[in-house]
Amino acid sequence: MNIHEYQAKEIIARFGVPIPAGGLAWSPEQAAYRARELGDPPYVVKAQIHSGGRGEAGGIKICKSDDEVQRFAKSLFGKTLHTKQTGSQGKDIYRVWVEEATDITKEMYLGFVLDRKSERIMIVASREGGIEIEELAVEQPDTLIRMVIDPAVGLVDYQARELAFKLGLDGMQIGQMVTVLKACHSAYSELDATMVEINPLVITGKGNLLALDAKMSFDTNALYRRPEIAALRDASQEDPREATASNHGLAYVGLDGDIGCIINGAGLAMATMDMIKLAGGEPANFLDIGGGASPERVCQAFRTVLSDQNVKVILVNIFAGINRCDWIANGVVQAYQEIGVNIPVVVRLSGTNVIEGRHILQASDLPITTAETLAEAARSAVDAKSQL
Ligand code: GDP
Ligand code: MN
Repeated sequence: MNIHEYQAKEIIARFGVPIPAGGLAWSPEQAAYRARELGDPPYVVKAQIHSGGRGEAGGIKICKSDDEVQRFAKSLFGKTLHTKQTGSQGKDIYRVWVEEATDITKEMYLGFVLDRKSERIMIVASREGGIEIEELAVEQPDTLIRMVIDPAVGLVDYQARELAFKLGLDGMQIGQMVTVLKACHSAYSELDATMVEINPLVITGKGNLLALDAKMSFDTNALYRRPEIAALRDASQEDPREATASNHGLAYVGLDGDIGCIINGAGLAMATMDMIKLAGGEPANFLDIGGGASPERVCQAFRTVLSDQNVKVILVNIFAGINRCDWIANGVVQAYQEIGVNIPVVVRLSGTNVIEGRHILQASDLPITTAETLAEAARSAVDAKSQL
């Protein structure tokens, strides 16, 4: 789950990272009021959307007066901002952040990510900041510094100092960098984050370090124990299909293919997507209905998958342990009755109450293709698609 810049800034500030003073606004008038609260100009007005690259896209402006703040904010509210990261749909602006402008001497990059190879938190830093990490990795790969953190001891002072030296910092900046690094590391590990990024981390005119932009992502599966983080979710910034699905307890990720998938278990969902590809098809989505799925949840899964106009065939693949095949079958029948499914459906049921499940599908007289194995199901789905 992603959060807004201002939310990430408030979090890292709580852990000790210096950020510019600022305030959130939901209207142009409130933006002007925030500016006056901050004191003397200049101010920076920043569109709050779940994306970087806002500067280039026209979502950020330095303003010389509260009037100008109000005018620029007015031009942002209700608009859709298209950045390099948002894709063609863009993201809608409902909040802006107004900040005191900073006098910048140097922009640097700092990120904390999960390195899957070492299975550890890794710091990525560069003395060149302000541009996106993807571009940095292509254009200035030599400037990237990587450092892996040992989970047994955490981020230790000498390691943080070493990174500060490598970034070319000196004097009081070294101590400040140690504070910034330890704060980010604490925020990352204590809040179940999957990413913390400060880009740019700047050196101000007075020579101090300051986080000018911040981005954080969190492990969705850990949100149950982080209610304060879960509360920061902004569904207006998410893919509407994924947001609706998550509200119904479904793990859904939209993809580009045309075979809609309704599966139980993330592992089986991945395997099914592989089998579809092997059979020459393209999955339209990843969808895990989870354990103990009720007929209603199965029906909702159909609704979610069918909301994607590209879907031409639906493949239901259930290996029931905690789930019950009779409930799944009832859910499939319910989907036909409530939504009106008018594309081919292939169902493969296996495991708990499989006999009952098959009976329900048979007795329903619905035009459902059944399959015994995963491979057969994937092939049937791809065949059904090619016969359209
Ligand atoms: P992003 O484009 O979405 O990553 O948004 P950022 O917050 O990173 O801002 C983009 C760029 O705007 C930064 O890299 C800075 O160069 C510039 N910028 C942002 N805030 C200020 C500021 O207070 N003063 C100055 N001079 N430039 C700023
Ligand atoms: Mn940025």
